[in-house]
Amino acid sequence: MEFQKFYTLPKLPYDYRDLEPFMSEEQLRIHHTKHHQAYVNGANNILQKLDKAHKENLDIDIKATLKELSWNIGGHLLHTLFWENMKPPSTVVGKPGGLLGDAIEKEFGSFERFKKEFSQAAISVEGSGWAALTYCMQTSRPLIMQVEKHNTNVYPMFRILMVLDVFEHAYYIDYKNDRAKFVESFWNILNWDTVAKRFDELLK
Ligand code: MN
Repeated sequence: MEFQKFYTLPKLPYDYRDLEPFMSEEQLRIHHTKHHQAYVNGANNILQKLDKAHKENLDIDIKATLKELSWNIGGHLLHTLFWENMKPPSTVVGKPGGLLGDAIEKEFGSFERFKKEFSQAAISVEGSGWAALTYCMQTSRPLIMQVEKHNTNVYPMFRILMVLDVFEHAYYIDYKNDRAKFVESFWNILNWDTVAKRFDELLK
């Protein structure tokens, strides 16, 4: 495998129009090609800056640089997960089966209860951020994580199974300021197959 030193914008596993009517072609295209690309570029610029500073032994503002790096790497990696855990609505199944379905029911009492809690977590993110379904390898619990920005409130070492972007840039074209409506729509394009696969791989 070739060693890659910089980030690249991943291709989507579907066409821009394929998530309609829940996510429009325009919304998805701008989100992917402008917003996600900006995090990729931002992270790579900082890595180049660090490379130069290390090579030439230059002084840099470490605190500011690492804060900016965290924001951009977080943005890039979360978006990468996000695109993969959506799919065209015609093929969506309402809830996960298998080991993931069992784990969610055991933790939350029912899938419906999980869905409600996850939606509330997404809707109530302060400012810009994400809701994520995560898994703790120490306690074997699937837990909801509410991320502010791309990198605040993160549980270190937890594995991320599924994410939902609730930055305004994720839904403004389609839903204006109605984040709750966007969150409700998300369930129609959520790819539980990918999420279950991520979970199964953790348990191997
Ligand atoms: Mn986004």
